[in-house]
Amino acid sequence: MSGKATYKTFKGGIHPPYNKELASGKAIRPAPVPAEVFIPLQQHIGAPNEPLVNPGDRVELGQKVGSSEAFVSAPVHASVAGTVKEIAEVTGFTGAKVKCVVITPDAEQPEFARKDRDITALSDQEIRDIAREAGLVGMGGAAFPTHVKLTPPKDKPVDTVIINACECEPFLTCDHRVMLERPHDLVQGLKLLMRAVNAKRGIIGIEANKMDAVDAVRGAAKGEAGIEVEILEVKYPEGAEKMLIFALTGRKVPPGKLPSEVGCLVQNVGTAVALYEACAWGKPLYERVLTVTGQGIKEPANLLARVGTPISTLIEACGGFVGQPGKVIMGGPMTGWAQPDTSAPVVKGTSGIVVLTPELVDVGTEEECVRCGKCTDVCPMFLLPNFIVQAVKKGQWDRAEMWGALDCFECGCCSFTCPAYIPHVDYVRKAKAEIAALKRR
Ligand code: SF4
Ligand code: SF4
Repeated sequence: MSGKATYKTFKGGIHPPYNKELASGKAIRPAPVPAEVFIPLQQHIGAPNEPLVNPGDRVELGQKVGSSEAFVSAPVHASVAGTVKEIAEVTGFTGAKVKCVVITPDAEQPEFARKDRDITALSDQEIRDIAREAGLVGMGGAAFPTHVKLTPPKDKPVDTVIINACECEPFLTCDHRVMLERPHDLVQGLKLLMRAVNAKRGIIGIEANKMDAVDAVRGAAKGEAGIEVEILEVKYPEGAEKMLIFALTGRKVPPGKLPSEVGCLVQNVGTAVALYEACAWGKPLYERVLTVTGQGIKEPANLLARVGTPISTLIEACGGFVGQPGKVIMGGPMTGWAQPDTSAPVVKGTSGIVVLTPELVDVGTEEECVRCGKCTDVCPMFLLPNFIVQAVKKGQWDRAEMWGALDCFECGCCSFTCPAYIPHVDYVRKAKAEIAALKRR
């Protein structure tokens, strides 16, 4: 017996270089107020918002500046006190143009005026209403409106709420810092989530490379009924919904189905804390903790940044680039978005800015598949990624679907492990687009 501890996990996955040490020891500090903030009217999955303000209007910190009547949507709020300069189209982090409320901040920014409320008396419907008013969305990247997630189908009751505290993406450390610095607020946020869906069990799943966070959160959860803190193996993508649910509960979410199918709801650390802030303080989601890091950044940091802040302001706040950057990524290196420049504004789902040096970006050019099977071994969805690629190359969209292209959640494990440098995710995205187009015909 080796005596090495074994932790809960799923089958498949990879162990990329994590590089967490660059920022994990850096306490959260406020990012500077930029010269202008660009609040995208759509930062979520669902219907876009319409602006509620006009050029020249004065706005207060936390004021709602965009909303929609649609249920699947989330309003947006001013992240500064200031004056609306214009409603303009700006290039967002995906490269697409997004309509933004552009605000020129006042020279002096106020503290947020808390409206303290007794959260123990809130009903499930009140919690959902507050989440909606506060513009809460999943802050792990997907940005699905929280009040919608808190409204599962009546015939699919949720008995377990899981907090994804894995932060399995390399480089990112913002959730780790939030757990260390605000464990009480995280636990209170989980209790609100549990009450909103009437779940009796709450699990906070933390990877074993954050044992100090395990201690902090266990301390905050002591004596709280129904809340467990579980340690998970350090492996990517441990925090993916289906993998996390299986690792923690043994339940398998069927292909194409949501976690509510197996009685689970998964939320991210940032979202749970934001729900606590919205319920306890009346604070809308207009700022978030994110990590600015990578070997290409002079002073990696965890920053509390206002939504709408251009990436360039954050990079400057961290001392700037080390030499010429190889790649700037919004989000983590496995699932983030490469940025052609540093103008895109931070949105509610921005967990980090990672700057890679040129040596780390040079991964080699695509070659022919050598049929080694490594991509199949690591795929957490048990797909055959090389078969999907072959089908896409031949334009055989029915076969690409048969091999599971639609079940791929684009984790990138296959590409990471492939000796032939095949960018499987690019092929999968092409297959998804073609299959969707065929189904529309
Ligand atoms: S096929 Fe999709 S789900 Fe499977 S490893 Fe590749 S990217 Fe991940
Ligand atoms: S890992 Fe790459 S080379 Fe190996 S089977 Fe998969 S696609 Fe082919």
